[in-house]
Amino acid sequence: MSLENILTDWSKYRKGLEEGGFHDYEHMWGMVVDLNKCTGCGACVVACYAENNLAVVGKDRFDDGHAMHWLRIERYWDEPDLGEGGVSEFQHHGGSFLPMMCQQCNAATCEPVCPVAATYHTPDGLNAQVYNRCIGSRYCSNNCPYRLRYFNFFSYYETSWPAPLHMQLNPDLTVRDKGVMEKCTFCVQRIRTAKDKAKMEDRKVLDGEVQPACVQTCPTTAMTFGDLLDMHTPGEGVDNTQAAALWRKHQVELGKSRQVKQNPELRGYRVFEGLNTDPKVLYLERVREV
Ligand code: SF4
Ligand code: SF4
Repeated sequence: MSLENILTDWSKYRKGLEEGGFHDYEHMWGMVVDLNKCTGCGACVVACYAENNLAVVGKDRFDDGHAMHWLRIERYWDEPDLGEGGVSEFQHHGGSFLPMMCQQCNAATCEPVCPVAATYHTPDGLNAQVYNRCIGSRYCSNNCPYRLRYFNFFSYYETSWPAPLHMQLNPDLTVRDKGVMEKCTFCVQRIRTAKDKAKMEDRKVLDGEVQPACVQTCPTTAMTFGDLLDMHTPGEGVDNTQAAALWRKHQVELGKSRQVKQNPELRGYRVFEGLNTDPKVLYLERVREV
């Protein structure tokens, strides 16, 4: 692809046909995370490790910047209102938690910089990673504004899963080796299984038929996953189990970096949407009593 093609066609390619682009998506997998419901328990993180064969790098390598967690819980603390000589400890003003996984951006900045096209967009709107093609240049990680790509600096197989722990590995996906980049896939192996089943039954995957491990595990149902192209739920009397309905309810639209909301009370927002990355994870702001 020439540089001219990249500059003129790339962002157009990312937009749907209705936006004047030329990518006719089959599905558009997206998520909603309600920060009012998230308690920061970390169950989603553990589920992600188990489902996706994530290596445990250990605290020393973590300290060296070799973190490996496709989903991290970011913690935020309110600014303490300290009087003169006041003391504030974290427990006095409570934390807020924000689960952060690959935002599956429709205009993913990690994609055009890969010299071997190891990271690309799938017809169902996912930002995919081809491990066998990855040469470990780490350009994609450098170009992800959310810092959500993780590199295998070492081969972790023997240290992470000494026998008999290797028996717990999920056979539906690989174990990545040294020199390969990886990141959240929205549990693409589950999506593929659902698509295969739907194909056998000569139909499309139904909204709600597939859930990533984090969504399935969350004890407070803080996360909702679904097909953002599924428009069957009406706007009023919104079904809160449907991701597309929640996007509509909170008046956040894909393809727009600036949302025009008739109701400023609506809590929905996307992280860094002003960067035009068009992320497909919608966060519902946490509301606190003051
Ligand atoms: S969050 Fe980062 S890794 Fe994920 S699609 Fe967007 S730019 Fe790429
Ligand atoms: S499992 Fe649910 S409540 Fe627990 S940290 Fe994850 S999103 Fe928050």
